[in-house]
Amino acid sequence: MIEVYIGLGSNLENPAEKIQQARLFIAEHANMSELKFSSLYSSPPMGPKDQPDYVNAVMSIQTALSAIDLLRVLQGIENDFGRDRDVIRWGARTLDLDILLYGDQQIDLPELKVPHIGLAERAFVLYPLQEIANESLFVPGKGSINDLVVQCPLDGLEKLS
Ligand code: ATP
Ligand code: MG
Ligand code: MG
Repeated sequence: MIEVYIGLGSNLENPAEKIQQARLFIAEHANMSELKFSSLYSSPPMGPKDQPDYVNAVMSIQTALSAIDLLRVLQGIENDFGRDRDVIRWGARTLDLDILLYGDQQIDLPELKVPHIGLAERAFVLYPLQEIANESLFVPGKGSINDLVVQCPLDGLEKLS
């Protein structure tokens, strides 16, 4: 079993509810079990500004799925939630599920980079991650979670719950 951190984000059609529904989808999936779930956070959009604020959260799970199989499962869930992939980068979306960390592995495949590429610079990932992670969590190739958070401004991030 591998411990995995997943970043959840949504900014369309009642995002807070979407995040909670996605959490249940994942927790009830045959091949994944929930360990921890962060508070919900709101964050200003990262790409184009003419879109609603995001609701973000981070969860940790245990799984026996390979990283690639996990990516496929998460993409399937995004599709179930009506994710339209035919849109501009970082544009509005019903649900985004990103693999942040897969154990302590570093993965560099065309379709999968782990740790997630934006992890170390994104407040909406680092703060919820720190909330649920062990203090000693080390992000491979990047540094300790505490150091990363200290170096990352909040950028408008607010805790919702
Ligand atoms: P960002 O990756 O910057 O957060 P995004 O989440 O909006 O942007 P998506 O449209 O969800 O990007 O995904 C684009 C591609 O990113 C996917 O097709 C997937 O193959 C790839 N990808 C690479 N690494 C990861 C990862 N760690 N988790 C999820 N997808 C990843
Ligand atoms: Mg993303
Ligand atoms: Mg994504």
